[in-house]
Amino acid sequence: MVIVLKPYASKMQIDTLIKEIEKENVSVQRIIGSNLTILGLIGDTASIDIDKLAVNDIVHKAMRIQEPFKRANIMFHPEKSIIKVGDNVIGGEKIVSIAGPCSVETEEQIVEIANRVKESGATFLRGGAFKPRSSPYSFQGLGYNGLKLLNIAKEETGLNIVSEILSANMLDTFMEKVDIIQVGARNMQNFVLLKELGKINKPILLKRGLSATIEEWLMSAEYIMAGGNQNVILCERGIRTFEKYTRNTLDLSAVPAIKKLSHLPIIVDPSHATGMWWMVESMARGAIAVGADGIMVEVHNNPEKALSDGQQSITPDAFSNLMNSLRIIAGAIGREI
Ligand code: PEP
Ligand code: MN
Repeated sequence: MVIVLKPYASKMQIDTLIKEIEKENVSVQRIIGSNLTILGLIGDTASIDIDKLAVNDIVHKAMRIQEPFKRANIMFHPEKSIIKVGDNVIGGEKIVSIAGPCSVETEEQIVEIANRVKESGATFLRGGAFKPRSSPYSFQGLGYNGLKLLNIAKEETGLNIVSEILSANMLDTFMEKVDIIQVGARNMQNFVLLKELGKINKPILLKRGLSATIEEWLMSAEYIMAGGNQNVILCERGIRTFEKYTRNTLDLSAVPAIKKLSHLPIIVDPSHATGMWWMVESMARGAIAVGADGIMVEVHNNPEKALSDGQQSITPDAFSNLMNSLRIIAGAIGREI
């Protein structure tokens, strides 16, 4: 961190400020120019409140030179994080695919979809049991029964399960019934929930918030990691922009940006990003081409009758075609699927 002082700052005022800063266990280097004095702070400045410094009488400007996230930062962890889930890993050479319906609806539905996506090479089965719907009148999910049905599909196919948690009081059940706990876009900044997820070591799939910046998203990952859980997988799912044609705007540039800033794996969800089934395959191909570690795709055996997000769900046949084309793209960039 660098602090530029106002030209009239007296030596006594500067000494007092330095003493205050040193209480936070950082050392301070003084650079005295002909007009200005600059203070360079050395050490872990994470706990220093930059806003408080900025209101100090003699401070002209205070700037961080490092990102505020430490554990998620590639600078302090140059090797890529590889997250183990059952027999699979996320973030390695192999690209993962998480496929399944928006919501678990019936045993027949989830078991059929699980079998079909498994046949096409899916790595994980997704399915919402608790649904964060925009309207309280829309289908809210089957709740705990949905998690039970997901486990029946898991027993039948061997696919590990991804499902979304809505609040910390569901954690015991999710620990038992789910392999990867999803934090949805709407909960990305539910810091109480993130702190609780920091206390466990099950993998967390952290979706990007509806209008979260990359730094805000990584700070949410930091919340989980600061609590002790390093198993965080990021998921780009589109952000809100002025464009109304698509449900959201898929920010594929987030993939190389995250790779530059962080060691955490990143996957892309083209279903919620576009909101239209006919865009999903091309955007999924784009995601793998730009370096994503995987995709999350909504697949339904009867999209027209789906209880949620049918308009953006692809059929099991389309998923099979998609996987075939992803194999070619993965090969072209030195990865496999
Ligand atoms: C979902 O994956 O079912 C979901 C609700 O996604 P998001 O949180 O990205 O809207
Ligand atoms: Mn959905």
